[in-house]
Amino acid sequence: KLSKRLSSVADFVPENARLLDVGSDHAYLPINLVSSGKITFAIAGEVVEGPFNSACENVAQSNLTDKIRVRLANGLAAFEPSDKIDTITISGMGGHLIADILANGIEKLDKVSTLILQANNGEYYLRKWLIKHNFKISAEKILSENEKIYEILVVHHGNASELTEDELNFGPFLLKEKNDVFQKKWQSEEKAVSKILENLPETAEQKRQEFSAKLAKIKEILNVSA
Ligand code: SAM
Repeated sequence: KLSKRLSSVADFVPENARLLDVGSDHAYLPINLVSSGKITFAIAGEVVEGPFNSACENVAQSNLTDKIRVRLANGLAAFEPSDKIDTITISGMGGHLIADILANGIEKLDKVSTLILQANNGEYYLRKWLIKHNFKISAEKILSENEKIYEILVVHHGNASELTEDELNFGPFLLKEKNDVFQKKWQSEEKAVSKILENLPETAEQKRQEFSAKLAKIKEILNVSA
């Protein structure tokens, strides 16, 4: 059974998608999607040998070697046009790394219609990168599991409408909804930023201003009812 985080990623994968899972590690996500019959073809890409071997073993044990290719490759180098990949999942990494992986093969993304990106951090940077490169965020989800909070972005090609700083930071959809998990995430950010501010010396004026502004913004977002 998949973790809540990975099953939320799986929920966004379209039926019958031809999937590349970048950084698949154990390959749980493609194995689950193919086993359930939601999709019939996937590539599990891994750049590190240990996880690559574990992906190979798990796919073999599930008797899915005819439907899931496991490839030792860096990022988007794991697929070729003949694979007809239309959906890419990248999960469990930082937003910067996810953006770098996409940037390193950006010309290959023309034929890929859906990206499902679960960043552990750096969401602001990732959203900014996506908008700059003419991708459109179509849906977002925030969830908590084992005291950790995760965000998932569902992305398509599209006319990039500018996002405001608040939307880049908090997520255009998450900001509209402001659900309980969102409140929890930003309440804990509020605490963290307050703590940093408390410990900054009076002389670090610029930093103090930066964090005060951050704190004020978080308070504003949390206090205004959705
Ligand atoms: N995607 C799985 C998940 O969400 O549970 C595994 C996440 S694991 C923390 C990140 C994996 O990405 C590692 O196995 C790492 O080797 C792999 N990885 C990191 N950079 C990569 C890249 N450029 N190309 C392919 N895999 C990469």
